[in-house]
Amino acid sequence: MKKIIASVLTVALTLGLIGCGSTQTNTSNPGTATSGSKDKLIGVAMPTQSLQRWNQDGANMKSQLEAKGYKVDLQYANNDVNTQTQQIENMVTKGSKVLVIASIDGSAISDVLKKAADNGVKVIAYDRLIMNSKNVDYYATFDNFKVGVTQGKYIEDKLGLKDGKGPFNIELFGGSPDDNNATFFFNGAMSILQPYIDNGKLVVTSGQKDFTKIAIQGWESAKAQSRMDNLITANYASGKKLDVVLSPNDSLAIGIIASLKNAGYGNADKPYPIITGQDCDKPNVLAMINGQQSMSIFKDTRTLAAKVVEMVDAVLQGKEATVNDSKTYNNGTKVVPSFLCDPVYADKNNYKQILIDSGYYKESDLK
Ligand code: BGC
Repeated sequence: MKKIIASVLTVALTLGLIGCGSTQTNTSNPGTATSGSKDKLIGVAMPTQSLQRWNQDGANMKSQLEAKGYKVDLQYANNDVNTQTQQIENMVTKGSKVLVIASIDGSAISDVLKKAADNGVKVIAYDRLIMNSKNVDYYATFDNFKVGVTQGKYIEDKLGLKDGKGPFNIELFGGSPDDNNATFFFNGAMSILQPYIDNGKLVVTSGQKDFTKIAIQGWESAKAQSRMDNLITANYASGKKLDVVLSPNDSLAIGIIASLKNAGYGNADKPYPIITGQDCDKPNVLAMINGQQSMSIFKDTRTLAAKVVEMVDAVLQGKEATVNDSKTYNNGTKVVPSFLCDPVYADKNNYKQILIDSGYYKESDLK
């Protein structure tokens, strides 16, 4: 098992498909036990098992930490803030030395983190920043602004906006307002798209452009589906062409595609618009292969887990962890030292190279 993880990482890194920036080569062999790691308990709090990516995050964290000799308490909270708070509290009570937390509501766990700090427990925010608490030691994530930029550039490129083509009709979706990442994704995408909205080459037919109007609470597919239903009824029922939907992630894209399918999209008369996504969840990769979704951002959870394991090692040895960003992620109380991994996009044309050759999926996973 250790060998498999190590060789998968080696292949992926050698191919240069995934990366955590310039210090990537520091990724240590997950098979090497760290001095003093033996039997130390690490709490890993994940938001939900309902999305594939978090299952992979949890599994990678567990296997990579265990390969280093740590004990792991991995918990999923069914997207329920109280459940997650309770789980974190238990992790502290059970004697965890470090907590790795992908929060549900980034602003809702300050009290329990105070308890962690009082017990000398270190805290690493995983993927999502923990807000309004000084008791967050490090943050490891993908470059969230770049995720949005990559989605925006994909749209710009596919529509030929740089060549002056247009106007095209677009609708915008945003992620969950309680997730700090969501505004980064949106602002990144809008940094590319806004100039074309301003010069009329992209038209938001519904007029709904503010993050508060377009955000989908809890990243729920069903809520995205129902918002898309309303957008179609109010703006596209007369046959007006919908060219693009900016979807920040795959769970929203699933709802958006379901809505469009119900409304008769997906044939020569009414082709699917360009639809973006993020996570490369299996159903979405299938949707890309089937021509329903155009692209998805690939965030290799193996790489993020390896980076967080390095951080765990460092803090437990009383050392400073390697970071590559010390200015972007202000959580309202302090700027949290961060390590940003590099996101890339996958689509129908490159998914084999990005997802299969890197060992992330097997061809048979995508049937
Ligand atoms: C993550 C995305 C994910 C979303 C919904 C965000 O915080 O960065 O990868 O799609 O949450 O779970």
